[in-house]
Amino acid sequence: MCQVTETYHDDMKQDELPSESKKCVKCKEVIAVVAIKAGDKYCRGCFELCFHHKFRATLGKNRVIFPGEKVLLAVSGGPSSSSMLRQVQEGLSPNAHKKLRFMPGIIYIDEGGALDQSLHERQQTVTKLEDIFKASGFPYYIVPLEQVLDLPSSVITMSPSSQQKASSYKASLDDFIRKDTCSQLTPEQKNYTSFHLVQELQTQQLRQLINCFKTLTAKEDILSNLRQHLLVHTARCEGYNKLMLGDNCTRLAAKLLVSVSLGRGAQVSQDTNISDSRYGDIISVRPMRDYSAKEIAFYNHIFNVPSVFSPNLNTKIKEKASIQHLTETFINKLQVDFPCTVSTVYRTSEKLQTTCMSSSCTNTRDRCLLCMCSLDSSQGTTTENFCKGEHCETSVEERGCCSVIRVPNSTDVTSLLCYSCQLTIKDMSSVDCLPQYILLEAEIRQRRSRMRDEITDFLLDD
Ligand SMILES: [Zn+2]
Ligand SMILES: [Zn+2]
Repeated sequence: MCQVTETYHDDMKQDELPSESKKCVKCKEVIAVVAIKAGDKYCRGCFELCFHHKFRATLGKNRVIFPGEKVLLAVSGGPSSSSMLRQVQEGLSPNAHKKLRFMPGIIYIDEGGALDQSLHERQQTVTKLEDIFKASGFPYYIVPLEQVLDLPSSVITMSPSSQQKASSYKASLDDFIRKDTCSQLTPEQKNYTSFHLVQELQTQQLRQLINCFKTLTAKEDILSNLRQHLLVHTARCEGYNKLMLGDNCTRLAAKLLVSVSLGRGAQVSQDTNISDSRYGDIISVRPMRDYSAKEIAFYNHIFNVPSVFSPNLNTKIKEKASIQHLTETFINKLQVDFPCTVSTVYRTSEKLQTTCMSSSCTNTRDRCLLCMCSLDSSQGTTTENFCKGEHCETSVEERGCCSVIRVPNSTDVTSLLCYSCQLTIKDMSSVDCLPQYILLEAEIRQRRSRMRDEITDFLLDD
């Protein structure tokens, strides 16, 4: 970080006669102030134009967001998501070159409870962020992570998607233009802060849950799953169809390597692609994926984009404490010396595809209970065998569909998870610590699977 700022200031100080090499590569007139990588030097104005253009181009090219749609921006206060918020503000401003056409809202998930932060510290962060959110004029939601404990089990089921096709993009565009000319587009103001509702007991439960995991790698993994569940739930409740995530290219390169090291090779493309539809109705979009962390740092510095630091599990820990942290450190070092390599790493994800694409597997039972990615076919077979083995031991009464709900034991839950989440759960001291909505959904899926096995002889093949 320090290095980045220093380079920028050095460039600013040089006010002697501009030689060709010091001029902006785009307009070829003004002295460049930003050097993203060797040979890519921009003046302030051109840098801003390019930065804004890239955001619109990423969204436009992929046509993932429909005109008039409600989009929830997940803002953590970090540089990348703060910059994303600024891009949306710029894109919606009346004098924008090519106006964005969706209705944004902001969500911040306060994870302080999982990180042993005091209520006072959490309140300070929330106040700073609220100022930024209020200034944007967009509706915002501030949700403490503790609320994940009260989620319904339907969060981890796949809801049917609204089936948006490329052809319907034109239809919604026409519709949008018609409405827009009649009335000015203003999203309804509905700010929601449930921060003050946090109870000490819930914070304790959340900490207990996180502390059930022995390694930091598993802690980080479960935390990111819980965060995602809460994001999806809030989006559903507030009527948003899309979630916008601030993952930049540097982060995604690290995520790709982390996915591979955690045994999520089959899910890499879903974890890092521009759009992710594993929940069916709520689609996650990553419009910052073409920006490097360095580029974002430059932009935020030059154009005064405020960001708010909030600690995470990785703050103040040693480099090798978790696989995620180690990989991130590696990528950041790589970025300094070999910036092109990082984008090569993350572009690999675009070329990867799983045989079972999200759209073809619409059945919830084929989805991992935690991360909702599709389970691969070989795993399905193991699951079947698992269930059959279990049946031999259980009595007839117990496996009837009217059986009493009981807390599934660790093997039960394992059979409903992808390989990577199985490793995470294995790290847990007791599965009973998992939030109720996850255990309940596990029970529902198991009952359904037992029932299917019982009537399997009477079912016609697909
Ligand atoms: Zn220029
Ligand atoms: Zn999983």
